[in-house]
Amino acid sequence: MPSEPSEPSAAARPAGTVPRRISTKAGTFTESVIREMTRLCLAHGGINLAQGFPDFPCPAELKEAAKAAIDADDNQYAITWGAAAFRHAIAGKVARTYPGWTIDPETEICVTCGSTEAMIAVMLALVDPGEEVIMFEPFYENYGPDAILSGARPRFVSLRGPDWSIDEAELRAAFSDRVRAVVVNTPHNPTGKVFTRVELELIAELCQRHDALVITDEIYEHIQFGGPGGHIPPATVAGLEDRTVTVNALSKTYAVTGWRVGWTIAPPVYTSAIRKVHDFLTVGAAAPLQAGGVAAMALPQGYYDTTAAEYLERRDLLCDALAAAGFRFRLPDGAYYVMCDTRLLDPEGDDVAFARRLLETAGVAAVPGSSFFADPSDGRHILRFAFPKRLDTLRAAADRLAVLG
Ligand code: PLP
Repeated sequence: MPSEPSEPSAAARPAGTVPRRISTKAGTFTESVIREMTRLCLAHGGINLAQGFPDFPCPAELKEAAKAAIDADDNQYAITWGAAAFRHAIAGKVARTYPGWTIDPETEICVTCGSTEAMIAVMLALVDPGEEVIMFEPFYENYGPDAILSGARPRFVSLRGPDWSIDEAELRAAFSDRVRAVVVNTPHNPTGKVFTRVELELIAELCQRHDALVITDEIYEHIQFGGPGGHIPPATVAGLEDRTVTVNALSKTYAVTGWRVGWTIAPPVYTSAIRKVHDFLTVGAAAPLQAGGVAAMALPQGYYDTTAAEYLERRDLLCDALAAAGFRFRLPDGAYYVMCDTRLLDPEGDDVAFARRLLETAGVAAVPGSSFFADPSDGRHILRFAFPKRLDTLRAAADRLAVLG
């Protein structure tokens, strides 16, 4: 077979030039806007309410356990799909939190490098190129590139403001036998929506009818503010038990986004495929930090109650300041973001220019709304602010935002 035209060989290339061709896949998506805002923020000495990472310490128990593991020379590869002690600890914690949901740690868990690796490993393991994956829009920006890298075709279904509910007719119309999976993220980044039982039951009905999977990202499961019903893991909804892959991580619940420790929970047939892909992507998550994960899973319920109460205080502090500055929004029911309508402050609706202006003039970084939509113009009147910060940081941000009001 004749080969496709490619870069000239090194010998034929004029001296001093380098190959410039990149893969079609890599050329299809841009650099992460959220992480770019973090870099800009550092350059401007701003307060970073763009990227969602805490500026407060993680629980001492995690640090002590990780340090003890390093002191004990826990320096070599853990089992590729996760240290046994950590997998058993995850299964125990899930059973305590959601009575009735039982997981076999030997066959149904794969420990990954954060939920980011978990999501791409799941898509590569379970979705074939050309198959469709339904995603609710606005969406966490990683899901688009995840779909592209795995060859899946994203199919977007809108979450409708002001309460970010699902339009049943739109969801039904999006389903067909080409759909392999639906990505659910609850509590939801960026809207703060917590999916209701009625919505999850609708998804269950459609997934059963079209033999599709639910891939659910529950990284904010413990950050919720007492909305109706609270967080419901899709894996516990009737009809979804055998067709759900749950993605989670230590990152947000325990304030260790830099540790890069996450996991998947799925029936054995899916887990063994995910484990294979994960093995060749990364081999495994850092062994001593998995020991920290064992300590995290042993924290008492009081830790989660305090975490939720502290996030509520942070949410209210930031949201009061945003409202006073002229932003309009729906109070988030969960996760740690607030999606703001900027029309009063930026009538022409250039979210990227407005985010830069806000950083340069007020010294506060937020994420332009276009990062959360397939068609960037759908996000032009939106900025997203994150509030996983100390109250002092949020008070300083509030003072800076006051210049807009
Ligand atoms: N999923 C969602 C919905 C997120 O908001 C984030 C981070 O902001 C991640 C996944 C990334 O998680 P991790 O740090 O565990 O890879």
